[in-house]
Amino acid sequence: MKYISTRGLAPAKTFTEILLAGLAPDGGLYLPEAYPQVTRAELEAWRNLSYAELAFAVLSKFATDIPADDLKAIISKTYTSEVYSNGRADSDFSQITPLRTLAPGVHILELSNGPTLAFKDMAMQLLGNLFEYALDKQHAELNILGATSGDTGSAAEYAMRGKRGIRVFMLSPNGKMSAFQRAQMYSLQDENIYNIAINGMFDDAQDMVKAVSNDHAFKAAHKIGTVNSINWGRVSAQIVYYFKGYFAATKSNDEQVAFSVPSGNFGNICAGHIARMMGLPIGQLILATNENDVLDEFFRTGVYRPRGSEHTYETSSPSMDISKASNFERFVYDLVGRDGAKVREFWSRVDAGSAPDTAAFDIKGTPYWNELPKFGFASGKSTHLDRLKTIREMWGQYGVMIDTHTADGLKVGLEQRRPGLPLICLETALPAKFEETIVEALGRKPERPAAMEGIEDLPQRVTVMDADVATLKAFIAKKLSE
Ligand SMILES: *Cc1c(COP(=O)(O)O)cnc(C)c1O
Repeated sequence: MKYISTRGLAPAKTFTEILLAGLAPDGGLYLPEAYPQVTRAELEAWRNLSYAELAFAVLSKFATDIPADDLKAIISKTYTSEVYSNGRADSDFSQITPLRTLAPGVHILELSNGPTLAFKDMAMQLLGNLFEYALDKQHAELNILGATSGDTGSAAEYAMRGKRGIRVFMLSPNGKMSAFQRAQMYSLQDENIYNIAINGMFDDAQDMVKAVSNDHAFKAAHKIGTVNSINWGRVSAQIVYYFKGYFAATKSNDEQVAFSVPSGNFGNICAGHIARMMGLPIGQLILATNENDVLDEFFRTGVYRPRGSEHTYETSSPSMDISKASNFERFVYDLVGRDGAKVREFWSRVDAGSAPDTAAFDIKGTPYWNELPKFGFASGKSTHLDRLKTIREMWGQYGVMIDTHTADGLKVGLEQRRPGLPLICLETALPAKFEETIVEALGRKPERPAAMEGIEDLPQRVTVMDADVATLKAFIAKKLSE
C-alpha cells in the first residue's frame, strides 16, 4: 500500500515513511492511493473478533510495510483492558470500546476509557508504540513539540511517556486549563516529558510551536516532530472502532447503521468516511458541531468558510472550538474525484486565509454538489443550551452521565438520523473532564474514575516560561544536551 498526497504533487510513500512525517512536501495530506476493500467473507469473519484482533485485521491492510508479527505485537500491547479501564464502573472493559445501549436503536460507543478520558487515547496509544518501534528500527530519535489547550497534549504525553528515543515538549497556557487538566499533565514524572507553561494564551503557545517548526535548520538539528490530528497513523487507528461499533450494534452484515460524531478537526469522522469507503455498511455519517459550525455550514450549503480566531467562540465543548478543520481536505479530495489540481485550487484560498464571512470555496452549482449525497453525510449544530438539555435528558431518562461533546453528538444524531437506522453516537470524552458544565446541567459533580481521585494533590513537574521563541529554543537545546 502506497500513500499519495491530496495535492497530487508529492512522491508516493509507505506507511512507515509517512508515520513520522507531517504534511506532504506539496502541502497536502497523505491518503492511501486506493482504499482497501473489505469483502463480505471478511466482514463475516471479523464480526466476532476481539478489539485487538479486529485492529490487526483492519490495520494490516494499511501498514503493509510492517511485518505482520511485529504489527500484531504492537497492537496487542496497545489495546488491553488495563490501558482502557477508566470508564464508568459498570463498563465492560474487555471490549475496549463497549457499546452502551440507551434505548432500542440508540447507543453510545464508549471511546473514552483510556488514560486521559478522551477518545484521542484510542489512536494516540497506538501511535506511541508505533513510533517507538519505527525509531528503534532506524536507530533514530524524535522530539515531539506541541501546544495544547487540553485533550491532545495530555493524550500525547500519556502515549509517549517512558518511550525509548522519544521526548515530548508540550506547551500549555499558564493558568488557563482546569485544575484537573493541569494535574493530568503536570503530575507526570517521566524524564522524557517536559511540560512548559507559557505566560500567555493558547494561541501564543501555538505561535511559538509554529515559529520553531518554521526554523528548518533548528528543526532538523534537534529532530523536532509533531503528532497533530493530520497524522495518518492516528486516522487509520480510528477506523477500527467504526467496525467494532457496527458489529456490536447489529446482528447481521445486511443491516445499516448511522454514526454521529462530535467534530472539530474532522479527524474522527474522516475515519468513519474511510470505513464506509472500505465497504462497512454505514447508512449515515452524522457530523455534529457546536457553535463553531463551519463544517455544518459546508454540508448544508456547499460553502466552506473557515473563520479566523476572532470569530471562533469559546464554548462548553472546547475540544470542538475549531474553525478550520485540518482533516477536511482528505474528504474533499475524495469528493472532487481525487483531483489534486482541484484541491490545490480550493486550498490556495483556504491557506491564504480569506476575510471573515467570505467563502474559501463553494461547491453549490458544481457537479461536486450532486456527488455529495453519495457519501452519506448529514450534519447539524448544537449550542450550550442544547448541551445542558441533552445532558439532563440522558441523566433523567437513562441514568447515564455524558460529557458536553458527546451531548452535541447525541443531540444532532437524534435529530438527523433516518428513521429505522440504529444510531451509534461516538463518546469522545468522559464527563469528569468537564465538571463545571455538568454541575451547571445537573447540580452535581460527575463521577471520577478511581485512578484519578485526588490527582490535583500530586506533585507537579512544569517549567513556566514567557512567550519567547528564543527562550524555548534554548530550553530544548539544553535539555537535549543533558
Ligand atoms: C478532539 C476532540 C473532538 C473533535 O475530534 P476531531 O477528530 O478533531 O473532529 C471532539 N471531542 C473531544 C472530547 C475531543 O477531544
